[in-house]
Amino acid sequence: MKKISLIMLSVALMACANKQVRLEDECRYNPQQTEFAFWSDIAEQMEVRIYDDANAAHVIALQKDANDFWHATVKGDLAGKYYTVRSYQNGAWGQESPGIFAKAVSINGTRAAILDMQSINPAGWENDQRPPMSDPTDIVVYETHIRDFTMSPNSGVVNKGKFAGMAESVGYLAELGITHLQILPMFDYGSIDETTLVKGKYNWGYDPVNYNVPEGGYSSNPYDPSARIREAKAMIMALHSAGIRVVMDVVYNHTYDAMGCALGRVVPYYFYRMNEDGTYANGSGCGNETASDHPMMRQFMVESVCYWAKEYHVDGFRFDLMGIHDQETMRQIRAALDEIDPTILTYGEGWAAMAPAYPYEELAMKQWTYLMPRVGAFSDDIRNALIGSPFDSERGFASGKAESRDAVCFGLVGGINYKDNLFGEGWSGEPMQHVSYITCHDNYCLRDRIEVSAKDEDHATKLRMNKLAQTAVLVSQGMSFIYGGEELYRSKKGIDNSYQSPDSINIIPWENKEEYASLLDYYRQMIAIRRAHKGFRLGSADAVNEHVAFLPTDNKSLIIYQIKDLEGIDSAKSLVVLLNGSAESVEANVSETQYIVLAHDGEADAKGLGELHTDRVVVEPYSATILAEK
Ligand code: CA
Repeated sequence: MKKISLIMLSVALMACANKQVRLEDECRYNPQQTEFAFWSDIAEQMEVRIYDDANAAHVIALQKDANDFWHATVKGDLAGKYYTVRSYQNGAWGQESPGIFAKAVSINGTRAAILDMQSINPAGWENDQRPPMSDPTDIVVYETHIRDFTMSPNSGVVNKGKFAGMAESVGYLAELGITHLQILPMFDYGSIDETTLVKGKYNWGYDPVNYNVPEGGYSSNPYDPSARIREAKAMIMALHSAGIRVVMDVVYNHTYDAMGCALGRVVPYYFYRMNEDGTYANGSGCGNETASDHPMMRQFMVESVCYWAKEYHVDGFRFDLMGIHDQETMRQIRAALDEIDPTILTYGEGWAAMAPAYPYEELAMKQWTYLMPRVGAFSDDIRNALIGSPFDSERGFASGKAESRDAVCFGLVGGINYKDNLFGEGWSGEPMQHVSYITCHDNYCLRDRIEVSAKDEDHATKLRMNKLAQTAVLVSQGMSFIYGGEELYRSKKGIDNSYQSPDSINIIPWENKEEYASLLDYYRQMIAIRRAHKGFRLGSADAVNEHVAFLPTDNKSLIIYQIKDLEGIDSAKSLVVLLNGSAESVEANVSETQYIVLAHDGEADAKGLGELHTDRVVVEPYSATILAEK
């Protein structure tokens, strides 16, 4: 350790306290000069290279400050030029990279680009606003991938596979009634070579290269650094205009290549968890895992989400393998986003692919969700209960497995501590922290899952199971999440991990709009029913405990889920949802009164299918009946 005088130490600390050096300030442009600042606590030298084009480079040595940030200021207007940074440590120069916080990049993200960000905004950007949102439980998230949604010859989209194509498609989503569109990775990722886009290669994109730049493959011209930025913003603006918020799928848990990417090159090893033998820890199953518990990795994540929220007006973040991150980082992300807008959504996968190299009790695992207020986690509980676990081919409640009944109820109440843990110990503090879903891009889509687990059933029965499972998601007190294309009976032809399957597997079958019109209408109506009835979105654990009851029945294949005493909360005095997960029609007792039938026997209508005065209801096989008390 170097000797340091007390006076020098106090000066350094004052500098630290006074100067908020941000990782995102790697390149600060104005027409008179560009300031550079890169962080490394181990570099002995650092330099930035300015490129006019592919060849010419001006090398500029950087000067270190007391906070381990390395600075240089270059006079003149550098807009249109590119730069890389490299660092010298342990007796050798590392390789060039665009820096960890590049905001614009060259083709394939190898160099950072210097742009005047303000000058490249799409027309009207200054008027873009987040659509209104009151409570997170009001949300219906629809997950899609830009290619899945736009590539089909039947998509009607001109700009297929592009941000601009997604922007063309907002009308369908608005009509479906969703509130949030979750887009599979749209930051710059590595598995698609941007110079060979004509080959039409597909990838989900879970392989981050530059975290703070849109992916070039989705732009009209990946060679033009401004195109991807302008077109991503235009897409977000189009969605906002249609009343739809945008959730970004963020993948801070690992990088495409630990040694080759900027995080690994600028400050070797720092941003990753390492095993004792010097190898990279691998909780992601992708060859490395990042270290959110290291202060500058944590700061990087906080600044990165804030950057997307402010610069791109992104409305929410879905954290891939969130269980690799530590809880404190997630709390700090939540706090930082709250300063921008508390309605910005945060949720993620409360698990890891393999055991992370960090104490389990401190990780953002699903089990500890209640310790991270207003951060949600995907509920594999309700998923597995309704359609079966992806790790076997068994049925779920919606396809005839009565044993899963209690676990479905656990999901219906949003994974909270419900009435002395009647259905098991809760892991969410509030119902919005429970992301209710049955399918997403991972694992089988719903049609394929039912095909695998209930293959001997006839087509009509499989469709009934499909509707029943999705109904449970949409009446759950948790936050509803739908995998895009389920409403059009998509199939991925039995491929559960379609991350690099061709478009033919992954595209949404728009041609099914006619053949499966009744399925599409059912989804649309169920979303409308959810949005029309606050009773399905009570919003707090206390309210769920107060208003939700499960009526007694001896039939293990039947759930009678009642939401009562709704005066002043809902237009209905009470709501009754009857879910029949068996092949037989069943009769059930309900309170004798006048009801509007919202759903019955595979049909649904938010305005009501009809009215009846009764105390006994017949629920048809594999279907839901939903009643609203007048
Ligand atoms: Ca890329």
